[in-house]
Amino acid sequence: MTGKPGRIGVLGGTFDPVHNGHLALAAAGLREFNLDKVFFVPAGRPPHKLDDPVTPFHHRAIMLELALAACPAFFLDRMEKKRPGPSYSVDTLRELRERLGWDCALYFIIGSDAFANITTWKDFNDLFRYADFLVAERPDTAPGRLDDLLSQQSGFQQDRINNCWRHPLGARLHPLPVDALPISATTTRHRIQAGESIQDLVPAPVNAYIQQNHLYGASR
Ligand code: ATP
Repeated sequence: MTGKPGRIGVLGGTFDPVHNGHLALAAAGLREFNLDKVFFVPAGRPPHKLDDPVTPFHHRAIMLELALAACPAFFLDRMEKKRPGPSYSVDTLRELRERLGWDCALYFIIGSDAFANITTWKDFNDLFRYADFLVAERPDTAPGRLDDLLSQQSGFQQDRINNCWRHPLGARLHPLPVDALPISATTTRHRIQAGESIQDLVPAPVNAYIQQNHLYGASR
């Protein structure tokens, strides 16, 4: 990397499809934590969906490109497609540290629903070696608050002065205030399958791409 070390956000997901909730989440990271950029990292093979049908990577990546074009601080990163096997976040964060070095501040951005399952992720403790965390409340999921999630977990220490939690390996975990949108990729797919409009759920170019390519059962 050249220039100042920077403050980088990383948002991983299946993005099947990307929707306005993802964009609001990344925008909250930029705004609230003064990030310089956010890398959107679509899963090549989502480990928790190995038995489920997932839209081919190239469609998900093109929809992301269309959605991210509106914000110059948002970038698509295809690194998980290039790695063989299931896409584990710990490998992604390790690779990012190798690429970016240790001088930049690296923030893994995640919704509270995904964070609630993090202890099931591969080498989950090692995630906290590589990055700090921004955990956003989702209006449609529970438990939504970082305090509620972490007060039941051993090992995390609350830092009331800095309004965050600390993992023993050094990471800070911050609640991320986000203008919560009750949107998920699942509801987006269901709306399409039901023949309903998704124009309030995804950016217009993404909606057009879905219609043109008949994704998720979109008709003609
Ligand atoms: P699905 O409904 O298929 O499970 P999803 O909408 O949760 O998908 P993912 O691609 O799995 O989307 O999510 C990537 C990340 O974005 C996760 O950390 C998830 O918690 C977060 N996220 C998704 N939707 C929202 C939303 N509306 N508000 C805040 N965070 C969100």
